[in-house]
Amino acid sequence: MTQDVNEFMESLKISESLKDQLRKKEYAVENLRRISRYAVIDKNIYYNMCLSITDLEDCYVSEIVDLIEEKIVINENMLNKCIELAQRRKCGEKKGALADYVRSVSFDDHKLKEAAEQFDNLKELMSHVSKDDEMVFYDPKRVIAVLKGLNVKSKKIERKGILNEGKLRYLHKAGENPQISEEILQEHLKRTNGEIITRFPPEPNGYLHIGHAKAMYLDFNFGNRCILRYDDTNPANEMAEYYESILDDVRWLGYVPWKITSASDYFDELINFAKQMIKNGSAYVCHLSTEEIKAQVQSPYRDRSPEVNTALFEEMICGKWKEGTAILRLKMDMESKNMLMHDLIAYRIIEKDHLKADKKYHVYPSYDYTHCINDSLEDITHSFCSREFFSRRASYYWLLDNLRVYKPVQWEFSRLNISNTVLSKRKLNALIHKKIVIGWDDPRLFTLRGLRRRGVPPQAINAFVEKIGITFNDSIVDVRLFENIVRDFLKDRQIVNVIYDPTEMEIEGQGVILIDGDDFRQENTEGFLRLTYGQPVGLVNKCAVELINIDNGLLKVRQTDKTFKSRIHWLQKDLQNVKIKVRELSHLFKSFNPEEKDFLEDVDPDSMLIVDGLCESRIMDVKVGDVVQFFRKGWYCRDEDENGFMMFNKTVGMKK
Ligand code: ATP
Ligand code: MG
Repeated sequence: MTQDVNEFMESLKISESLKDQLRKKEYAVENLRRISRYAVIDKNIYYNMCLSITDLEDCYVSEIVDLIEEKIVINENMLNKCIELAQRRKCGEKKGALADYVRSVSFDDHKLKEAAEQFDNLKELMSHVSKDDEMVFYDPKRVIAVLKGLNVKSKKIERKGILNEGKLRYLHKAGENPQISEEILQEHLKRTNGEIITRFPPEPNGYLHIGHAKAMYLDFNFGNRCILRYDDTNPANEMAEYYESILDDVRWLGYVPWKITSASDYFDELINFAKQMIKNGSAYVCHLSTEEIKAQVQSPYRDRSPEVNTALFEEMICGKWKEGTAILRLKMDMESKNMLMHDLIAYRIIEKDHLKADKKYHVYPSYDYTHCINDSLEDITHSFCSREFFSRRASYYWLLDNLRVYKPVQWEFSRLNISNTVLSKRKLNALIHKKIVIGWDDPRLFTLRGLRRRGVPPQAINAFVEKIGITFNDSIVDVRLFENIVRDFLKDRQIVNVIYDPTEMEIEGQGVILIDGDDFRQENTEGFLRLTYGQPVGLVNKCAVELINIDNGLLKVRQTDKTFKSRIHWLQKDLQNVKIKVRELSHLFKSFNPEEKDFLEDVDPDSMLIVDGLCESRIMDVKVGDVVQFFRKGWYCRDEDENGFMMFNKTVGMKK
């Protein structure tokens, strides 16, 4: 035996008697050394293997080592099973497990292919197959050959915890979503190389809010690539400001879009598809009013000829028809129980220029018409959306099959609702227009801008959406859960002393300091534990004091050894102290669920109180956007100065 092998045996840290046994089995050691080169299994497994193989014949050991080298055996379980099989074979027991195996090799390649398709990588496949199918232990080369033929990706997507839970675990893998023809699928796979592609599709008609953070969590973490796609099909609502803020907010949360696109990038394609549908008799120009359409009457224009429809649609495109006088509808199924199959609107006239589209169209595509086609054109594998889109699945698939194009899978999750606030852009807009809040970035709002201005770190937002998970059931998450998470992310912040309503306190024989007016009461009230007559208080890093009397607002106290119930902070009476302004913020709405009634009626008028504060001079070093802890008060974020004062927004209070 060579020195080399002895060294290797040393490194295994196994007992002397085991080493002795191994030395008698030259090949075993040689094989073990081979394993070590591949480092696919850990020391424990080596050890286990050493123990077991001492009574195995070398040829079996080699076979097992082959499996390890090929990365077919990747964990201890599999190894044990291998050894067990080999032992049985040695005993001549060719029935039982081995008989099953013999049957399993008669599985044709097709079966293997089927299994392989369910997995993103070899390792996962193998660990799966090994659970109930012993064939992998026998003929790994064949397994691998089949897998190679399939071009199975070894690139595994490391999904975070919640993306591996519940229904998400069972979502299809790339290439598994059914298409009307195999050709469509193969073309799609060729373009995507089997990658998982998702998109985050905000409409640039407002700022993003924490609900979008939930959608982004799923869209950006689920697959290999995520497209940021502006869903900009209605120029009446969209503004340049929103395109910019959305991208900025996406980046602030730490996401990097693989590509940035807009629905309007595809206006030409969308028009061409519409013309194609008119030609094949699946779309028609209709002149019913909105009310008539809502009443679900069958359109009298349904059976116009493709030629007439083509001519009318051209007229709509170039502005010959006025807004509201003509629409293009899809000829779907008026008998369907699903109202969204009742001849959806594909195009309507909007007399407004689009911000981004370079060609002037007078017609604009509807959400239902656009979204699925955009998803298809971008080869999206999983089109995640919130639950209200569930009933739109049917039309989504109907349309793409009608166009004979690639069909993604739409999958819905529940919208995020948070207690004591509203999220929908329509409601946020109302609050802004009525001047109930300062703007989209009012620090009481759960817009990403508001949260940023309030000092909430983006990591806390992501941790929060991760914590609540991706579910299908709608619920309202208690805002206090969010606040707890925010606190966790602010633990390490600098602490400064700030007092409100500075009140002078003269300590007998020592001098005058300042305390927070709220830390003292003339008359004791139940539950009040700080300074009052007959109730001493501790001064942080100083002594305890008891109240003697109040002289013209000056609290006269003396040092005491008596016990006290709480400790308060204080400031030196010092010219260097800085006057600041603080926005003391609480929940914007009084009710847990402000949407239950008229949400505007539920606004808490005291949700933002501006308070004067006095602070030690260290506060001057705090920059705009920085968060510090005001001792005993909570965490506060510096905002832009107001009227020459440093301004702070309360991020979150101390835990009660
Ligand atoms: P809003 O009602 O706030 O206007 P929206 O759905 O119209 O919401 P979009 O900009 O169209 O907003 O949404 C972009 C993506 O974000 C969509 O996939 C949408 O489903 C998702 N989304 C919007 N609000 C929420 C929410 N509260 N929770 C989870 N996802 C949301
Ligand atoms: Mg919308």
